[in-house]
Amino acid sequence: MYDFAVVGAGINGCAIAYELAQSGKKVLVFDKESIAAGGSGAAGAFVAPKFSKSGPLKELVHHSFLYAKEFYTQKFPEHFTQIELLHLAHNEKTTAMLQAYKQTTPLKTLQLSKEHLTQNAKEACSIGIEAGVVDAKAMCEALCSGSDFIQEEIVSLQYQDDFWFLNEKYKAKNIVVATGAYLSILPEKYVKLRGVWGHRVDIATQTQNAISLHQEVSISPNRDGIIAVGATHNLSYHLQTTQEPYDFKAGQEELLQKASKTLLFKDDIQIVKDYVGLRSGSADYMPILGNLVDSQKTFESGLNLRRKKIEYSKFIYHKGLYIINGSSGYGFVLAPYLAKVLKEFILEQKPLAKELDVARFFAKEARS
Ligand SMILES: Cc1cc2nc3c(=O)[nH]c(=O)nc-3n(C[C@H](O)[C@H](O)[C@H](O)COP(=O)(O)OP(=O)(O)OC[C@H]3O[C@@H](n4cnc5c(N)ncnc54)[C@H](O)[C@@H]3O)c2cc1C
Repeated sequence: MYDFAVVGAGINGCAIAYELAQSGKKVLVFDKESIAAGGSGAAGAFVAPKFSKSGPLKELVHHSFLYAKEFYTQKFPEHFTQIELLHLAHNEKTTAMLQAYKQTTPLKTLQLSKEHLTQNAKEACSIGIEAGVVDAKAMCEALCSGSDFIQEEIVSLQYQDDFWFLNEKYKAKNIVVATGAYLSILPEKYVKLRGVWGHRVDIATQTQNAISLHQEVSISPNRDGIIAVGATHNLSYHLQTTQEPYDFKAGQEELLQKASKTLLFKDDIQIVKDYVGLRSGSADYMPILGNLVDSQKTFESGLNLRRKKIEYSKFIYHKGLYIINGSSGYGFVLAPYLAKVLKEFILEQKPLAKELDVARFFAKEARS
């Protein structure tokens, strides 16, 4: 019998499994495929801030970026590499945003060489910082190493006599659902996630590049003749619901065309590997954490749910059912910090920030 079952072994599931196991809990992780098989396996796994105007997501990503660099460097240095990142604007809007960002950022900025860039990229507004990149699969596996792992799709969750039963055969006191953008197994419908399909490639090339570049796409340094280029943002494709097969050729062309606006490639490019997967985003773009509200019991409780400033503590919750999701394109930046916050919420009853709390979606739906 387990204290916690975690469903989904992407970076979010693995990070919360790590936090709970480190706190002495017995944890069982499930994935229908393998560790880091979903969006996390497709990611370039760059760890960088959000170069945009102020707002809750930018602030959260900034804080998480600092936390993640420290976390990965201290705990798993073998799966994390510090790299210099040159972030470049690509149109008027991103130029204005980057100019404002440069004036206010507390990050130390670096002068980075633009030697191998195209003329347009050389002239673009840019900022250089110390960032990082994670070895996605190795990091997820390392985070999960203190937990048991079973490769199995969870199709049913049932609560009975103070325990959760998964697929009617595994028993745990608590469940954390970390299934990314895949079709939901939650017993509640108010958590709406959209999947943004992404494609990235590894290319074999002699092209020179010593730093990480980010303009319309990210371009990694050249390591042993391989440069990673990614990723596309495709809102219309979902691997569980779209009928037609994904068009790899179109994705490859888009990536190479965008990358060649930034870096001067030698004409010897050869695609050696494709990675595809879904990023999972919420309606308000913020991540989703916390305890699931039991909508039926809360509706039946007679609580006036139309009030705008309702306290989430008044809702009735599913005992021991938690979620971590909605990291969109920042999973590897956000996961260490989000997992710490969720662990403190579950084990130490520390309050959650309202803008992260899954209860906000119930509150909104109940009001409408
Ligand atoms: C091409 C691409 C490039 C990206 N680049 C970056 C980047 O550079 N930096 C960055 O920080 N982020 C990046 N991201 C975003 C990042 O990958 C996501 O934010 C992150 O993977 C989300 O992790 P997750 O654990 O929530 O979901 P996922 O990694 O998708 O994990 C969910 C897991 O749940 C499993 N699962 C689903 N349903 C079930 C079920 N019923 N039973 C059992 N298992 C189930 C799936 O098999 C999957 O392994 C990128 C994403 C893509 C697609």
